[in-house]
Amino acid sequence: MLIKRIVFAISVLLIVSCHRNAITGRSQLSLVPESQVQSLAVTQYKQFLTSSKVVTGNAKDAAMVKRVGNKIAAAIAKYYSDKGMPDALNGYKWEFNLVENKEVNAWCMPGGKVVCYTGLLPITQNETALAIVLGHEITHAVAGHGRERMSQQLLAQGVGLVGDIALGSNPQTVDIFNQVYAPTAQVGVLLPNSRKQEYEADHYGLIFAAMAGYDPREAIPFWKRMAALGGEKPPVFLSDHPADAERIQKLESLMPEAMKYYNPSGK
Ligand SMILES: [Zn+2]
Repeated sequence: MLIKRIVFAISVLLIVSCHRNAITGRSQLSLVPESQVQSLAVTQYKQFLTSSKVVTGNAKDAAMVKRVGNKIAAAIAKYYSDKGMPDALNGYKWEFNLVENKEVNAWCMPGGKVVCYTGLLPITQNETALAIVLGHEITHAVAGHGRERMSQQLLAQGVGLVGDIALGSNPQTVDIFNQVYAPTAQVGVLLPNSRKQEYEADHYGLIFAAMAGYDPREAIPFWKRMAALGGEKPPVFLSDHPADAERIQKLESLMPEAMKYYNPSGK
């Protein structure tokens, strides 16, 4: 009886803690409010930038990262308002920074805090491929993937969250945040995206890049260049990413849909 009751209590907890994602329509475990994850992201992002070498001034590449990022952000805002969900990006305050770092990587924290590493640029080689990567990474954030992984981890570790206590005041939740959002995580403790999340990021990332005026077909040569990196693949960006051939095949199958959104003028 007791077990039955516990199972019932857990199921109730899971039902009330699930959140239907505005983009994908998929139901996700959601034990932490988006607003709290965003406020923790603001702190961690600031900390990361302070301890990194941010490319500033009128540098061409830094300007490109901001230009691509802003276009994708505008495309996502349009996507949501076309679907009748203009509030879906509440709390988002976009920031796009290029950071001097040889890792082939880029990421986006909840609330729109984006970093691109200079090490990624020799592989993207052009602005369109950068849009493919940023579209992918930003989709992870707007689709709530990090929050989903955080929630799964909180459940697994049995971390109880009481009411409105700020996430940032609990060292355990800060740890979990850092295991989910790459920058300060050490290899080995990082919690990678699931295959499902990767597929969603590829799918909607292509659509957002296309709406922003970037040819989604560039995703194929870009991922081939990525695949050619072989063993040098960065653990963060590619952790648990689908096998290269499988990813490229899936991208090919998503292309007809993405091309419907392709707006070469980017307006
Ligand atoms: Zn990914």
